[in-house]
Amino acid sequence: MAEHEHEHVRVAVVGSGFGGLGAAVRLRREGITDFVVLERASSVGGTWRDNSYPGCACDVPSHLYSFSFAPNPDWPRSFSGQEHIRAYLERVTDTFGLRPHIRFDSEVKRMVWDTERLRWDIETSSGSLSADVVVSATGPLSDPKIPDIPGLDTFPGKVFHSARWDHDYDLRGKRVAMIGTGASAIQIVPSIQPEVSRLTLFQRTPAWVLPRVDRTISAAERALHRALPFTTQLRRGLLWGVRELQVQAFTKHPGELGLVEALAKRNMARAIKDPELRAKLTPDYRIGCKRILLSSTYYPALAQPNVDVVASGLSEVRGSTVVAADGTEAEVDAIIFGTGFHVTDMPIAERVVGAEGKTLAEAWADGMQALRGASAAGFPNWMTIIGPNTGLGNSSMILMIESQLNYMADYLRQLDVLGGRAALDARPSAVRAWNHRVQQRMKRTVWNTGGCTSWYLDANGRNTTIWPGTTYEFRRETRRVDLAEYAVLRPPAEDEPAAPQETTENAEVSA
Ligand code: NAP
Repeated sequence: MAEHEHEHVRVAVVGSGFGGLGAAVRLRREGITDFVVLERASSVGGTWRDNSYPGCACDVPSHLYSFSFAPNPDWPRSFSGQEHIRAYLERVTDTFGLRPHIRFDSEVKRMVWDTERLRWDIETSSGSLSADVVVSATGPLSDPKIPDIPGLDTFPGKVFHSARWDHDYDLRGKRVAMIGTGASAIQIVPSIQPEVSRLTLFQRTPAWVLPRVDRTISAAERALHRALPFTTQLRRGLLWGVRELQVQAFTKHPGELGLVEALAKRNMARAIKDPELRAKLTPDYRIGCKRILLSSTYYPALAQPNVDVVASGLSEVRGSTVVAADGTEAEVDAIIFGTGFHVTDMPIAERVVGAEGKTLAEAWADGMQALRGASAAGFPNWMTIIGPNTGLGNSSMILMIESQLNYMADYLRQLDVLGGRAALDARPSAVRAWNHRVQQRMKRTVWNTGGCTSWYLDANGRNTTIWPGTTYEFRRETRRVDLAEYAVLRPPAEDEPAAPQETTENAEVSA
């Protein structure tokens, strides 16, 4: 839109999910108000806005899966549903007064680094602007992936992805093919099984599934949390500590996870009495290699008479018949893809053009890598939240996001200290050294040695998504920006005044 043309801001944040909203609060806390949040949709929430499929909930306990600076004493359940998480993010937006900063319906089309003026020129669907610094918080789970299935375009029925649920489509009495057995699919299957006439699950790889011990958080507990806020912190601390203690098994001693496999097998045996079906559902890789799934309703749903498990991937569609790689066929009215997201090939990377005129996708052609999960060499003053090797297999991503926000805040402080117009470009040697360290540690982890393929690995088989350590270690690694790891860039002339200072207070966000 014309009103935004030629606008310049200090920081442009891309995305308004947990990462983008967290960045916005942190910027305010640092006294920075000259920023915008560019959001392609018309509301906040990111993946928690887009994933509204039946049964969608977080498998990380809510008291840990929330911002430390915005505790919510009123979480209704230990594993709250999507609608509660989305509502929480809406409230964070209001509590911290973020709405004036957010540009809805503004999809970033392209951002190009201007080597002369040391700034990012950003083109969005609602106009263009420039920014000194870009904080890309688009997240790894934002662009749905539908596999290229021959004949899919000729299917006469309904087709949609788990992250683009068509709530107008009535599934009652329909014959449905569910594709995939990841975290999304195992929540969808028990939610739709009772209402569809037939459910055919296409399982390429079985998942390890542990029971989900979910319960209502009682009114008394919530009242206690409201009256004594430290009890919320205590609860969070316990949830965090238990998960930190599990990390060694994932990163150094995958053999220890055998005990957890036994628990998962018991979970299956309790619900699945048919030995043939049990054999189909039993994974042949080490638990933890793929994300461990939590559900107490998935196996009971699979045991119902209106469900067929096809132990093979979907490979073709012929008219209204879906065909598996092993030749199994089923005629269906609807196909639901629970086939995940573009994670190691995220589309935003094709839209970011760095100092050498290369896109981030080109720079990452051999695999994503970024210094401390944030800075890619040749992309000055551009940082990403939940960047390469910042994902977790067993704990809350909000902890990692907050660590990256510490790093972002120090990055901006360092720019202030440098004074005038300056930009920081991660040194290739520093990026390589960081990545080498991460990849060395990765060698012993269950994600690399567990005998599975997963979205944690890229097309070259390299794990560019997961952090091979504790969240505490990552926090320590991202506490400060080490200027020795960056080249300081200067323009021909320096003419920038300092940014105004302002502070915001901590806030409690109640349901
Ligand atoms: P995902 O984990 O990537 O799972 C995709 C599934 O689709 C896999 O089972 C995959 O099989 C299967 N698939 C792909 N092509 C197929 C084909 N042609 N035929 C049959 N199956 C096919 O995706 P997701 O379930 O959406 O989960 C993505 C991530 O989102 C999770 O790992 C998690 O981090 C997050 N998530 C979290 C929660 C939560 O509770 N916090 C809930 C949902 C999602 P293969 O295994 O053989 O590749």
